Amino acid sequence: MENDPPESSEDRSKHLLAAYMAQGLDKLTAFLDGNGISLPVLGVAMEQFTKSVFDLPEGTACKQGCAYCCHLKVGVSIPEVLVIYNELAAQTTPEGFEFLKERVLEVAAKGNTLTEDFWLSTRTPCPFLDIDKNQLCMIYTLRPFSCRAYHSTEIAACQKGFEQGRETLIPCFPLYRATTDMYASIFTKVLAEKGFFSYQVGFVKAFEILLKNKNASGQWLNREDVFAAAKLG
Ligand code: SF4
Repeated sequence: MENDPPESSEDRSKHLLAAYMAQGLDKLTAFLDGNGISLPVLGVAMEQFTKSVFDLPEGTACKQGCAYCCHLKVGVSIPEVLVIYNELAAQTTPEGFEFLKERVLEVAAKGNTLTEDFWLSTRTPCPFLDIDKNQLCMIYTLRPFSCRAYHSTEIAACQKGFEQGRETLIPCFPLYRATTDMYASIFTKVLAEKGFFSYQVGFVKAFEILLKNKNASGQWLNREDVFAAAKLG
């Protein structure tokens, strides 16, 4: 319309995000309709989405070895955690996998990892953070979308939140964060529409379930609610 006011940048971002989301939902639905639902198919879908993630915008303060955000709660979709678990089991040596297993179980035994409070008050590092070696993510290429989305334009804000053990407003590029985070939501929505138990889960708790129940992947694919104990509120 000729007399419509110009669209604000916030509205433009919302429209862009809605368009990406709609495109992603259609793409995943068509892909699963064409290929069926199995771990390898979910793995390919995750790989394709990973390739779609934009590079972090210029002006991001994040750098190698800075890991304040790797001491926070991580939420994932169930397909992500299944793919990550299975890829790690396939790619890692038995000793390496045993090492990761011990790390996960150790963190899981420390408290309720589904709460923000656990992470903020204990400052526990993610079990996949290599605290002995420059604070690097040991599963960097496989990390969840929420980890890919999280970034900051001001390290001081991350440091303050970490040191004070409280939630802090971290300045970031909201559109980048939302578009990257959206892939987990796409998995959650599409799989729910296909009749699977599908919701966001705590990364550590869901991984613990997979470690303790070797049949969990198959049970979930048989539409059993095996991740209920890891559900995020
Ligand atoms: S998975 Fe990697 S990037 Fe994500 S919180 Fe853990 S160590 Fe950090």
